[in-house]
Amino acid sequence: MTTPNHLAHSDVAYQLHAYTNAQRHREEGPCIMDRGHGIHVYDTTGKEYIEGMAGLWSVAVGFSEPRLARVAFEQMQRLPFYHTFSHKSNVPSIELAEKLIDLTGGRMAQAFFTNSGSEANDTIVKMVWYYNNALGRPEKKKIIARQRGYHGVTVASASLTGLAGNHRSFDLPLPRILHTRCPYLYREGLPGETETGFADRLAAELEAMILAEGPETVAAFIGEPVMGAGGVIVPPETYWPKMQAVCRKYDVLLIADEVITGFGRTGRMFASDLFGIEPDFMTLSKQLTSSYQPLAAVLMNERVASVITRHSGELGTFGHGYTASGHPVASAVALENIRIIEERGLVDNAAAAGDVLQRRLRELADHPLVGEVRGIGLIAAVELVADKASKTPFDPLGKAGAQVVRLAQDNGLILRGIQDSVAFCPPLIITEAQVNTLADRFAQSLDQAAKAL
Ligand code: PMP
Repeated sequence: MTTPNHLAHSDVAYQLHAYTNAQRHREEGPCIMDRGHGIHVYDTTGKEYIEGMAGLWSVAVGFSEPRLARVAFEQMQRLPFYHTFSHKSNVPSIELAEKLIDLTGGRMAQAFFTNSGSEANDTIVKMVWYYNNALGRPEKKKIIARQRGYHGVTVASASLTGLAGNHRSFDLPLPRILHTRCPYLYREGLPGETETGFADRLAAELEAMILAEGPETVAAFIGEPVMGAGGVIVPPETYWPKMQAVCRKYDVLLIADEVITGFGRTGRMFASDLFGIEPDFMTLSKQLTSSYQPLAAVLMNERVASVITRHSGELGTFGHGYTASGHPVASAVALENIRIIEERGLVDNAAAAGDVLQRRLRELADHPLVGEVRGIGLIAAVELVADKASKTPFDPLGKAGAQVVRLAQDNGLILRGIQDSVAFCPPLIITEAQVNTLADRFAQSLDQAAKAL
């Protein structure tokens, strides 16, 4: 058996890590996870952690679900791979596409499968362009995304992402991709502005941007119903209806990126239902398979699907697809994962356990380090500030968030620092008692950080 020390050495030597300071990684080395059970993961030294981020906002059913292992094994024995090119298909991908459309209540019409959320959004960019070429509007190609939005890291999806770290030194964003203000009332609201007034202003800014660019050049608007990686930002209640109305007015397609919010995270199956969003495209991934397999889906409504179908007929083919589009093992795992979410009432559990999480975190609102607590269901963030009254952030930005996350990890709780916001997104199977343990460990870490800072 390889010792953890040797593993750490090899990790530093041979693996370039995702979203990691590669220089610092050489000094600090990795935290190597070895196994998981329920909401817990264990590192190679045997230390137990509550996975307060469900991995990457994604492991809905927890880290030891035997049913997912079983269906993967059975599907691998029966048909380990088949593709969906040139009229071929396979049973799990067909059943999964039908199930996903069914879950939307038939508002979406067809599914296209990819390996990752980034590829799904990249696919949507291409479909938006394809759609407008099919309709004879080659100039209608611009896509408006939002500052702090997160949509992935491929060339196109990183361009949609509205975070400087994903653009800087990568020569992004691509032309024809624009960013408008996001619904972050705490930082973007004007003094005394109400939630409704703020939502009205953001919709007016979107409309002004469309008019300035020329509506005949703007093809789509993309947003996460609740923003995740940009800091867990829950919009005002009237935000989505207002933004949607502007999109409709200028024939701008609406893309709901539900990669984090899909499959129950907010206490509803999809957050689009929560906010009255009627998207033309939906992006799904992460909790689709609880990340036991890499898989994402683009759902499109009839309006889009019918145009793509017709245009592919004119051109002779739809010239897009991945080797693993509709992978049978990933699809079988997704189907079983969705069955588990339904059978165990995990969407309702996200609402009930989420109420406890939101209440426990809001009890910390008076803590000297806490500027704002936000969230819905089983997704939340606590934003730390150096001065509560003036909302002055810590200098350097991110120092306090990193400190609290580090202390929490020592205390057996994995969280995520997004600058100075600390994010929470535990598995949907978490019990109310476990939420209380999680909140206790966080409160303890916060107190320790207050002393250190
Ligand atoms: N969209 C959203 C909303 C996401 O949160 C993410 C990943 N965090 C992505 C897209 C990209 O997914 P992936 O990492 O699978 O490419």
